[in-house]
Amino acid sequence: MSLVVMKFGGSSVADADRIKNVANRVMARRHRGDKVVVVVSAPGDMTDDLIELAKGVTSDPDAREMDMLLATGEQVSIALLSMAIKNRGMDAVSLTGPQAGIYADWTHTKARITKIRPVAVQRELKKGRIVIVAGFQGLNPGRDIATLGRGGSDLTAVALAAALKADVCEIFTDVKGIYTADPRIVPEARKVDRISYDAMLELAGAGAQVMQARSIEVGKKYEVPIHVRSSFTDENGTMIMREDSSTMRSTKGKKMNDSIRNGGTEEAVVSGVALDRNQAKVTLADVPDRPGVAAEVFGALADGAINVDMIIQSAPREGVNDISFTVSRDDLKKALAILERVRAHLKARSVTSDSAVAKVSIVGVGMRSHPGVAASLFKSLASAGINIDMISTSEIKVACVVKENNAEKAMRIAHKTFTLEKK
Ligand code: ASP
Ligand code: MG
Repeated sequence: MSLVVMKFGGSSVADADRIKNVANRVMARRHRGDKVVVVVSAPGDMTDDLIELAKGVTSDPDAREMDMLLATGEQVSIALLSMAIKNRGMDAVSLTGPQAGIYADWTHTKARITKIRPVAVQRELKKGRIVIVAGFQGLNPGRDIATLGRGGSDLTAVALAAALKADVCEIFTDVKGIYTADPRIVPEARKVDRISYDAMLELAGAGAQVMQARSIEVGKKYEVPIHVRSSFTDENGTMIMREDSSTMRSTKGKKMNDSIRNGGTEEAVVSGVALDRNQAKVTLADVPDRPGVAAEVFGALADGAINVDMIIQSAPREGVNDISFTVSRDDLKKALAILERVRAHLKARSVTSDSAVAKVSIVGVGMRSHPGVAASLFKSLASAGINIDMISTSEIKVACVVKENNAEKAMRIAHKTFTLEKK
C-alpha cells in the first residue's frame, strides 16, 4: 500500500463531467488500497475571472481581501469533488489549506509555505477517507488566508507530499508529460520518460510552463518523486527525479545493469528546448566607464522590483560604453521610467528598447561533461542565417535572445541539432 498525492489543475475540474472523471480516477486509486490525498486548483479560468471581478471594483485591490477572494476558487473544487466521490459510494472529506495545516508567511498573493502540520490529513486518512485539499492557499501568521502565487496548487501538492512522505506526487494536467519542446512549435518533439529536478527547474525558468518553478525547488529539496501525466489517459507521463536515481534506487541487479548499459539515465547532453516570448531588450548607450555605474543602474531596477535576466556590457571606447540587458515585457514600461532617471543622472546618451525579441534556451545536465554544446548551437543558428542578439549560459543551459520572428525557427533548429526527436 502506498501513499499518493494526486494534483489536478483547473482544466481537469472545469465542469461537472470533468469533476466526475477526476472522481473516478481518484476512486480507482483508492480501490487498489492506496492512501489517497487529492489537491485541486480552482475550476477552469475561475482565478482569472476573480481577478477581473476585483479590478472592476478597484484598480488597487487590498492584498488581504484579494487573497480572501482568490482562495474561494479552490474551495469550489474541493467541495464539488468530495460530493461527487461520496455520491459514488466512497468516503471523502474536503479540507481548506488552513484546515490541512498549511502555514504561510505574510506575503499576500505570493506567500511562501513556512511549515506543514498535516495532522487533520493524517487523521482522515486513518479513517480510510480520500482527503481533498484546496491548492494555492495557507494560513498566515495573522491567521488570515494567504495565496501562494499563480500556479500555487503545484506547490501545495509537492510540499504536502514531502510533509506526508508520500511515495509519489502525481501532477495531472492537459499534456501527457514533459516534452523535449512545445509540440505546437516543434512537431517532432517527444515526451521524455524522466528528467532531473535541475533540468526541469532550468526549463521552467526558460519559459516551459508545465509546472510552477517553486514547486520543483521544493520537490528537489525533499526529493519528492513527481510524476507529470495526463488527466485524460492512463499512460505514464514524465518522472521528475534525482539525476542519478535510476541507478541509485534500483536494487534489483538486472534493472541496475540495464540502466548502466543505457548510460545510467535518459538524460543526454540536451534534454529540452524552451521558448520565452515575455522578453524585452533595453540598451543604455554611452554610459561613463567608471566604477559604480553598473551598481547604480541595476540597483535602481532592483529597488523597483524589476528582475533583470541577461546583461551585456560592451568594450569601453573613449571613456564610455553601452549596457544592454533583458527584462520581462510586463516590466518594460516601469523599467524605462526608472532608467530615464538613471540616464539623466549618469549623463548617458540614450535609453532604447526592443520588445520584438524572444529567448530560446537549451537545457541539459549532460552539458556539465560535454564541451562544445554552445558552439554547436551557434553554428547551426548561423547556418540558418539567424542572428543572435544576446547569450547567457549556466552550467546546464545555453540561452540566446533572437528576433521574435526567428524564435520558432531557432527552436526547431536547436531541436534538430541535438537530435532530440530520437530516444
Ligand atoms: N488557481 C490558481 C491559479 O490559477 C492556482 C493554480 O491553478 O495552481 O493560479
Ligand atoms: Mg489555474
